[in-house]
Amino acid sequence: MLRSVRETGDTELIPESRVDAAIFRHLLDNSNIPLIGSAFGSTLVATAHMDSPHRPLVLIWLAFVYLTVAIRFWLARRRRLHVQEDEYDRKEALRYALTTSISGIAWGLGGLLVLDDSPIAAVVTITAIQAMVMGGALTLGAFLPAFYAFALPAIMPMVVALAISGTGPHIILAVYSSIFTVLIAGIARRFNRSLRYTWQLTFEKEDLVNALTKAHDQQSALAKSDGLTGMANRRHFDEVLEKEFSRLRRSGGLLSLLMLDVDHFKAFNDKYGHIAGDDCLKRVAEVFRRGVGRVSDLAARYGGEEFVGILPETDNAGAVAVAEQVRSAVESLQIVHESSSTSRYVTVSLGVVTLNCSEVDSTTAVIARTDAQLYRAKTEGRNRIAAI
Ligand code: GH3
Ligand code: MG
Ligand code: MG
Repeated sequence: MLRSVRETGDTELIPESRVDAAIFRHLLDNSNIPLIGSAFGSTLVATAHMDSPHRPLVLIWLAFVYLTVAIRFWLARRRRLHVQEDEYDRKEALRYALTTSISGIAWGLGGLLVLDDSPIAAVVTITAIQAMVMGGALTLGAFLPAFYAFALPAIMPMVVALAISGTGPHIILAVYSSIFTVLIAGIARRFNRSLRYTWQLTFEKEDLVNALTKAHDQQSALAKSDGLTGMANRRHFDEVLEKEFSRLRRSGGLLSLLMLDVDHFKAFNDKYGHIAGDDCLKRVAEVFRRGVGRVSDLAARYGGEEFVGILPETDNAGAVAVAEQVRSAVESLQIVHESSSTSRYVTVSLGVVTLNCSEVDSTTAVIARTDAQLYRAKTEGRNRIAAI
């Protein structure tokens, strides 16, 4: 596990396997670049050796390189299709490293061409092999076993051939190539480390953005809901009513509003206590929420023991039916209320208003009209509905 570099206190751990998976995917996505280099470089080397007495051997070698390029191209394509984005299989990665060693061997055999007579051809061969190893550091370096599997078989035969040929300049070239290989291996390791670090930072950023988005969503949901009942709160109700009001004003549709008030609720609290009162409110809220349940409806807690329902595009008969269903469902809860002069159980009164939004100036007027109906339901005896 890599420890986060952020010092925010909540040090997130990015699993190594997640970084490994991303890097392996990166390697597969870029696996064609070294293949193109291989085909191009081997063609140049073969061209430089065309005057050599070993020309048939050179052509066989060239064909062998092309063949390895073709095989690796095909294998990489297959792997890209099968390897999942976020899944890391170390065996699969090592198998990939094995295929890079085939190219390494092909180039290693090419390295034996340095012993050819033409100095220019020898220089072209050495340069091509070193360029291949350098390219490998910047691509295969993403997965170090793949880099070593390619670089060592590619460079060692040439170094050994130069060293045992015994001539002074050849030995110098062998030493030079060895030093070069060590330096390039260092570059590959550095590249590997910075690539891992980059991926780790990318994942940390990704996780952080996800966590913030989630927290923000939760926060906005909380800002819209009422703590006791979990329903929409007054603020959210005001927003939705305003929006529906303007929309229906333009379309000329009907708007129904329901306002519910628990009967004799002060007496209920006085008799049974606030905790029982809260419990009762939650149960009434649940009934109300289920009654005002269409997708386009909104059920909200207006305040204390009062609930409101917005029913867009609902006519008066429909709204009254919803109100009646809520009223009788609350009664059916049979929450004992001995201090009520209306019933043995907790009851509710509802005011219902249906109007064409062009009839009134503002949402305040809609609420005032609904409130007036609720007041009427109360004065007419409670446990009932008053509607216009
Ligand atoms: P009415 O039948 O006329 O509606 O009588 P009422 O007693 O219900 O009316 P009033 O508005 O005077 O009383 C409302 C009471 O609701 C006041 C308060 O004790 C109680 N109440 C308001 N909010 C809460 C709450 O969140 N929890 C509890 N337990 N009680 C609340
Ligand atoms: Mg009240
Ligand atoms: Mg009340």
